[in-house]
Amino acid sequence: MATDLRTDLTTASVIELDDAWGAHNYHPLPVVISSGEGAWVTDVEGRRYLDFLSGYSALNFGHRHPDLIRAAHEQLDRLTLTSRAFHNDRYGAFCRDLAALTGTDTVLTMNTGAEAVESAIKVARKWAYEVKGVAFDAAEIIVAAGNFHGRTTTIVSFSDDPAAHDNYGPFTPGFVTVPYGDAQAVRDAIGPNTAAVLMEPIQGEAGVVVPPAGFWADVRATCTENDVLMIADEIQSGLARTGTLFALDHEGVRADLYTLGKALGGGIIPVSAVVGRGDVLGVLKPGQHGSTFGGYPVAAAVGHAVVDLLATGEFQARSTELGAHLHARLGELVGHGVAAVRGRGLWAGVDIDPMYRTGREVSMALRDQGVLCKETHERTLRMAPPLVISRDEIDRAVDALAAALQA
Ligand SMILES: *Cc1c(COP(=O)(O)O)cnc(C)c1O
Repeated sequence: MATDLRTDLTTASVIELDDAWGAHNYHPLPVVISSGEGAWVTDVEGRRYLDFLSGYSALNFGHRHPDLIRAAHEQLDRLTLTSRAFHNDRYGAFCRDLAALTGTDTVLTMNTGAEAVESAIKVARKWAYEVKGVAFDAAEIIVAAGNFHGRTTTIVSFSDDPAAHDNYGPFTPGFVTVPYGDAQAVRDAIGPNTAAVLMEPIQGEAGVVVPPAGFWADVRATCTENDVLMIADEIQSGLARTGTLFALDHEGVRADLYTLGKALGGGIIPVSAVVGRGDVLGVLKPGQHGSTFGGYPVAAAVGHAVVDLLATGEFQARSTELGAHLHARLGELVGHGVAAVRGRGLWAGVDIDPMYRTGREVSMALRDQGVLCKETHERTLRMAPPLVISRDEIDRAVDALAAALQA
């Protein structure tokens, strides 16, 4: 049984298996997790760690939040998959409440984040040809330098990270890259064939990069003036991570389409969606787009429970309050091994002073102190604890970071 305690496993034996049989497309920290609860995980040898990554924000509600686990169990015991060839009794109510939560008209369900982004790209192109009147096959989408939107061939076509992009060509055309946070560059890049601007409200993989104040209001105005769709990829920044439902909410700006993923599946199953304007998503007619598992009953049940948690506002409030504490504490380390700290709410990009150590070395030293965190690029740590974390646990992690930097 899967619940048996596997006392024969050691960190070394599991890593040996991974290396022998799994493709080497990741470089994980050498820690083997076997259980988790709330903000904590336990490894195969019984050591406990504070999770300061949260599955790249897929675990915003912590490991195994009881409401989400209950929703999953109840659904597993009743019905798992119908395909969209038939209706099921979970899908519609999930879409209704996700639309209500996000203040949008229509929900298009998918599974992974990359699929949500692909779906938004397809919808924007179709809208450009059928509604805006862009010349056939000429639609352009404006994206930002330093972006991360997933790993499909179309999406990596407009990545400027050589590791994500190189040797996957021939690439999908139709993307125009501008510097992130430069509203004038967005305006200059818009032409008669521009269908959409697709960007992360705060860039996650790039190191929690927050654009200048006013950037999004400016982009919104430019998009409206030019009949261009504004698409916010909130897969990592959204769903309470920054203290508001969407990171864009801090700017008082609404997108035409939002892509959601990661936390939408509660860290249990992959659930993603494009939500937004009904007239835009309305370009999709039967048979023109789909997914076998998109919005399947288990996804709808877990996603619906996530929507219910977010509707309370509790997690947004926790992120705001505890995020202020996290940033105050991290600010104390600037000049003491930390070069700069960015971010919002319980989300921080911590640049390690190059005079000290690499991000990997600091991640390893943090692991030794019972805190799991991962570098993004060479010198930046991304801190994204579950939003159920306590103030004391944050202090503990920041103290561990201070010690790790000095070690
Ligand atoms: C993680 C992420 C994606 C891709 O999600 P997957 O589920 O890994 O395909 C897309 N956009 C952003 C902003 C992300 O952080």
